[in-house]
Amino acid sequence: MIYQHIDTNKNNINLPLGKVVCVGRNYVAHAKELNNAIPDEPLLFLKPSTALVPFESKINVSDAPYPLHYELEIAVLITRHLTDATINEAKTAIGGVGLALDLTYRYLQKELKDKGYPWEKSKAFDASCPTSRFYTGNIEDFNTLEMSLNINKTLRQHGKTADMIVDIISLVQYSSSHFTLLPGDIVLTGTPAGVGVLSEGDTLTAKINDILSVKTSVA
Ligand code: ZN
Repeated sequence: MIYQHIDTNKNNINLPLGKVVCVGRNYVAHAKELNNAIPDEPLLFLKPSTALVPFESKINVSDAPYPLHYELEIAVLITRHLTDATINEAKTAIGGVGLALDLTYRYLQKELKDKGYPWEKSKAFDASCPTSRFYTGNIEDFNTLEMSLNINKTLRQHGKTADMIVDIISLVQYSSSHFTLLPGDIVLTGTPAGVGVLSEGDTLTAKINDILSVKTSVA
């Protein structure tokens, strides 16, 4: 399946595919579960547009060179050009809210981190960013969102945006002070505790409040 930006009514969102800006350790409980320090500033990394696939496309673990780990994250779609944005500019540039999996070769990431190398090979590979449709309705307060991930009907991740170290709008603003954000770019906002490995046959159901619900499975 080819990825394109789609809204929750399955209409195409007419924006090009761009980069995906990701943040590490934006929830305290997740940083702790991986024995990572809480960073003083957001820890940013990028995935290229070739990482994007529709959320519903099957995740293939049988051909993967390492065990594949999931991280469910709230994704926001950028609809304006942002360089050194103000908070208000960052807020008005968010045109949609969705869910994404930041798929990770965790063991490879650890190896690269231990050597002090960039970790893109463990995070930015093809299809490493299954991304859902975007809810494009008005969100009055981004700090009231809640996401959850069930795997085989067991709740594995649950996060409230109110528990983020850096809130969504501030994160978009901060990102734009390092990388110009363009219409069609996506910002992933970090994962809560409960990350783990995917196995063949797993089914994943994820949602945000009552605005979005998506499913996928592992082959
Ligand atoms: Zn992540």
